[in-house]
Amino acid sequence: MAKKDTTNPPVLVTGASGYIAGWIIKYLLEKGYTVHGTVRDPSKARNVAHLHKIAEGTPGTLKLFKADLLDEGSFDEAMQGCEVVMHTASPFIMEGYTDANEALVRPAVEGTRHVLESVNRTASVKRVVLTSSIAAVIGDNADARKAPFRVVNETLWNNTSSVKHNPYQYSKVAAEQEAWRINRTQKRWDLVTINPSMVYGPALTPHSQSASIDTMVQMAKGRYFMGVPKLVYGVVDVRDVAQAHILAAFKPEAEGRYIVSAAELTMLQISKILRKNFGWKFPFPLMEQPKAAVWLVGPLLGPVTRKFISRNVGLPLRIDNTRSRQNLGLQYRPVEATFVDHLQQVIDDGLLRKKA
Ligand code: NAP
Repeated sequence: MAKKDTTNPPVLVTGASGYIAGWIIKYLLEKGYTVHGTVRDPSKARNVAHLHKIAEGTPGTLKLFKADLLDEGSFDEAMQGCEVVMHTASPFIMEGYTDANEALVRPAVEGTRHVLESVNRTASVKRVVLTSSIAAVIGDNADARKAPFRVVNETLWNNTSSVKHNPYQYSKVAAEQEAWRINRTQKRWDLVTINPSMVYGPALTPHSQSASIDTMVQMAKGRYFMGVPKLVYGVVDVRDVAQAHILAAFKPEAEGRYIVSAAELTMLQISKILRKNFGWKFPFPLMEQPKAAVWLVGPLLGPVTRKFISRNVGLPLRIDNTRSRQNLGLQYRPVEATFVDHLQQVIDDGLLRKKA
């Protein structure tokens, strides 16, 4: 496709190979932007093949750069000439590591510092959009008790997570706080954070490593067939999360934190949506397990602790997404479409045939 002769400055997206970043880049390329994407290893063709393919069919232009969160200065080159920096890169893993600080917290916090120090050195940058998380707002559902009327909004900060308890959640709150600290030291660029709840919806590549994809694969493979914990969490479509980043980047009045979350659902409700649309082909969970049983055996089956179970299972959760709708202008798609499209992508890409 003929490339758009655009005078818009390039947009930097860190972690270009990621699940959410893929959709952000797609939308930017469709609008004709030049996207500077950073990846740890640009020679790993399969991680970025989908991006090159999207770029071929859109008016925008994609340029990939090598950068690592732990390498100071490695984002400088990719940032040259950019007015908008979208920092999405951060480890999103729930298991498979031994040292939570090294695997999660250090890359998230040092990475944010390194990206924002590059921003401080790059005079063209006017706005940074940081992909934070609802995890920077609350760590466990029990934290919702301290919310006004028990409805979680952007005024809250997660102060219950640590390297030992919910290290991923801790990595996100520590990184977002570091970002606001650095932002306050200057006046040239402003910071807007997107704080999504659990993200679902189709990935643009079968090679996505995001924990979001694994959760769907495990559900369809029957990991929870014997019953799911009564666990309610906020959910949002990956395409809506990407649109929120675009709105946050280009709406002059966008400011502060935006929780991005379409609805609150239990795992059983998600399972019911999937069964309604896909029938009995997959061993989706049929029931909820009593909290006492989850407390007893849960830690033996997966990466959950008894403290997590006590502070989440069976506890209500209500999330206020008013700011994202009214101030950002974000429109949410129905969650049914999110889960149906997501499982269809997982099936089409053959992910259910792969060994766990
Ligand atoms: P993802 O597909 O795993 O993307 C994470 C990205 O971070 C990958 O591109 C990865 O690059 C990059 N990364 C990790 N460690 C890095 C390092 N040391 N140096 C450079 N890049 C590094 O996960 P995602 O779901 O799209 O998550 C993107 C962002 O959204 C994260 O900040 C996550 O915390 C946040 N978020 C996600 C959800 C969700 O439910 N998915 C919800 C709320 C917030 P490589 O390809 O090189 O590994």
